[in-house]
Amino acid sequence: MADDRFDIAPPEIDSLFRLDERIALVTGAATGIGRTAAWVLARAGATVIATDLDGGGAEDTTEAIRAEGLDAHAHKLDVSDEASVTGVFDAVRRSQGPVTILVNNAGISIKAPTEALSLADWQRVVNVNLTGVFLCARAAAGHMLPERDGSIINISSMWGHVAGGFSGNVSYHATKGAVVMLTKALAVEWGRHGIRVNDIAPTFLRTHLTEALFADEDLHRMLEQTTPLGRTGQPNDLAGALLFLASSSSALVTGHSLLVDGGWTAR
Ligand code: NAD
Repeated sequence: MADDRFDIAPPEIDSLFRLDERIALVTGAATGIGRTAAWVLARAGATVIATDLDGGGAEDTTEAIRAEGLDAHAHKLDVSDEASVTGVFDAVRRSQGPVTILVNNAGISIKAPTEALSLADWQRVVNVNLTGVFLCARAAAGHMLPERDGSIINISSMWGHVAGGFSGNVSYHATKGAVVMLTKALAVEWGRHGIRVNDIAPTFLRTHLTEALFADEDLHRMLEQTTPLGRTGQPNDLAGALLFLASSSSALVTGHSLLVDGGWTAR
């Protein structure tokens, strides 16, 4: 005899990863992981708001996406500047509607041995990598809480889970570790209000940020040899993780840090 508690209809697969009618804002979308995130979300059906400190770069991203017949809009946005963040989120609400997907991607790295790291450089990294995530998540919550709906994806790093880079990078480790904990804290605080908060913690991906590292052939070979899956990555390697966390396919997932690291941290 059929039992309603267990005999439920199997899930719809075609719609599981669709983002139609969603408004998705991506920070740092001019290049690298942010540009890829904008593409992925747009191809899944979202209206994409590509933002970057480099306003022209954000325009480039939206023009490329629009050329494919998809919906994208650009804004210059400095994640470390409260007025800039508030201004852009207000403008988007007025012209497109409430943001229900946020990819907190903008980030920087200033490498130096800790004993030689200036307070100004430490502060710059904290302002972008940590305060920027807080400011954008707070602004997004202003859109998501009334909707009782939202997915925030923070781009942390495997360096938020383990230390041991190849040169002093303490502000990067500290801010990325803080983003992993900020993710959990916001997930707990906003879970009852329908907002999910997760982070993606990538390995080495080939972007402007990692240009020097990839240019060093010996170092790159060593990275490949010490990564269980035998390779580093590129931004497209995050497409599946982004779609999963942005869409209803991860409806019961929050407070999670999804390592996309080729097994690096499993060693
Ligand atoms: P990238 O340097 O290629 O791109 C970063 C983008 O962020 C640039 O377009 C830049 O203009 C923008 N940006 C910088 N400061 C900003 C600010 N204050 N406000 C708004 N935008 C700003 O970097 P990427 O490799 O694509 O990295 C993106 C994110 O992924 C960063 O948070 C980075 O820490 C993280 N990450 C990267 C890797 C990697 O190997 N590339 C690995 C793990 C995590």
